[in-house]
Amino acid sequence: MAIALGSTARSPIESLPLDAPRKRRMIAAVANSVIDHVAELTALDAAIGDGDHGHNMKRGCEAVLQDLEALSAMSLPDLLKAVGAKLVMKVGGASGPLYGTLFMALGKELPVEPSRAEAASAFAAAIAAVRARGKSEAGQKTMLDVLIPACQAFASGGDAVAIRKAAAAAAQATAPVRATRGRASFLGDRSIGHVDPGAQSSFLMIAALCDAFGEA
Ligand code: ADP
Ligand code: MG
Repeated sequence: MAIALGSTARSPIESLPLDAPRKRRMIAAVANSVIDHVAELTALDAAIGDGDHGHNMKRGCEAVLQDLEALSAMSLPDLLKAVGAKLVMKVGGASGPLYGTLFMALGKELPVEPSRAEAASAFAAAIAAVRARGKSEAGQKTMLDVLIPACQAFASGGDAVAIRKAAAAAAQATAPVRATRGRASFLGDRSIGHVDPGAQSSFLMIAALCDAFGEA
């Protein structure tokens, strides 16, 4: 995904080298964005969950940053698998295994230098793995409500700005939804009116990736 946000099948962007400095910048941007928004994620999860999502994600992202040099020296598939394994070990809660599944499946599906089409189909397959793991679908007020539309924007040829915009709108659109999966579902109608914390962390990661890609 990281090298293929250009708007055409063989854009110049797509041929940018995915070298260690670029991988380091992308990983750091995503991890730091989550860490910078720990209070926001905590507040969202305090409203409709148990308030740990910010700290769960921060713990995982700090572990990723600790290994930044080693990770950025790996191939794209290997680094994604390593990030996924780290998130499973460090994040905990419901989101740790789910994000772990997402990144590990991405690593398994992506070739070393993916085309845009290959990256889009790997993203879709990784989302399918999350759905299987979470026994969840779109519309249940979870991270899937951002991941799925972001993947659709990417697959349909959207550039980094369009993907970011789709993810932002999708995160906000979880607010009026009544949760039917995850801890927020215990609240029933009282889950209505709040953005889902996992949808927001998915938006933050996608936005950071899109912004870093634009600058890279
Ligand atoms: P926990 O709910 O165990 O405290 P977190 O607070 O870290 O875990 O993560 C909560 C987020 O995980 C939710 O906001 C939601 O987006 C996501 N989530 C929970 N259950 C599922 C599921 N079955 N499928 C997809 N996403 C889920
Ligand atoms: Mg929680």
